[in-house]
Amino acid sequence: MRPLCAEIRLDRLRENYQTLKQIHGGKMLAVLKADAYGHGALRCAHALADIADGFAVAFLEEAAELRRGGIANPIVLLEGVFEAAEYAEVERLNLWPVVGNQWQLESLLAHEWQKPVQVWLKMDSGMHRTGFFPHEYAPAYTALAQSGKVAAIVKTSHYACADEEERGMTEMQTEAFDLACAHLAGEESLANSAAALAYPQARRDWGRAGLALYGIDPFLGHDPRFKPVMRLVTEIFGEKVLQPHEPIGYGASFYTKRSTRVGLAAGGYADGYPRRAATGTPVAVAGRRSRILGRVSMDMLTLELADHEGIGSEVELWGDTVDINEVAAAAGTIAYELLCNVKRAKFVYIQ
Ligand SMILES: *Cc1c(COP(=O)(O)O)cnc(C)c1O
Repeated sequence: MRPLCAEIRLDRLRENYQTLKQIHGGKMLAVLKADAYGHGALRCAHALADIADGFAVAFLEEAAELRRGGIANPIVLLEGVFEAAEYAEVERLNLWPVVGNQWQLESLLAHEWQKPVQVWLKMDSGMHRTGFFPHEYAPAYTALAQSGKVAAIVKTSHYACADEEERGMTEMQTEAFDLACAHLAGEESLANSAAALAYPQARRDWGRAGLALYGIDPFLGHDPRFKPVMRLVTEIFGEKVLQPHEPIGYGASFYTKRSTRVGLAAGGYADGYPRRAATGTPVAVAGRRSRILGRVSMDMLTLELADHEGIGSEVELWGDTVDINEVAAAAGTIAYELLCNVKRAKFVYIQ
């Protein structure tokens, strides 16, 4: 069998959750959208079910998968519904929808609820994606509160720049949120992973942690408080020694300078390993850091071997020895995208 394997360490997922909840205080949603950032949503949900205050997914179908799989924790729909008819399923599955625009609000109020629904009312505090503008927020809140259809309203907003060095934008968004919420009762939720770590004033009743839950430092460094959950590993299945001045791979983009042992590893861009990670991108061969040589192919990639390494040697593409943030930087992208793209690998869950 092809050796490409995504090891998912569920014990680490639990530790990361506890760490984040402790740092943030209050309650913490484990964000499981996009198949838990590529880790497998249902498996992650079961691993967290006894400790998680709730889960968050992007849309109804993602939540339905968790409910079908036996998950009973609260589930927030971060994008809310896409059609009015979905509110019937929201009710049947006991989900907490975000309401982020006028038609979501009006169709929620038009639905015949058997029992009042818990709503997360979203403010656009400056990111300008979804949510009600601050000046529209109190009217939206009041319409929900007075409808008799809503059990509770959690006031929420999302930051555009919480993982960046420049702090002004996040502070401005927090002020805009607080000003517009000044006289509105209820719980609040502001912080994603980065904000939970870097902005004490963003820690409210509910945090919403994604990236750091999976053990990745949102500030692109390496935060020892969080342990990478995924380890993407494969094996060397071919080796050869090339003379100096020989090309490797598509486009002959790399030439050896000296006699070089080259290993061929199972894993390529069809598996989600980024094609833009070319010569020099770190990999680890049996725990020793090495580097990719030449271009990444669809199903395989080539890397530099030491003398004692060869066929059968383990290759870590990212995980413990190679931080996924390093691979993302080499490929001009972010860890989120790499995690979500993993496919064709065998997923092995470790308790
Ligand atoms: C994805 C998402 C999160 C989680 O963000 P991380 O940066 O992964 O912690 C939180 N809130 C909302 C609204 C999201 O869409």
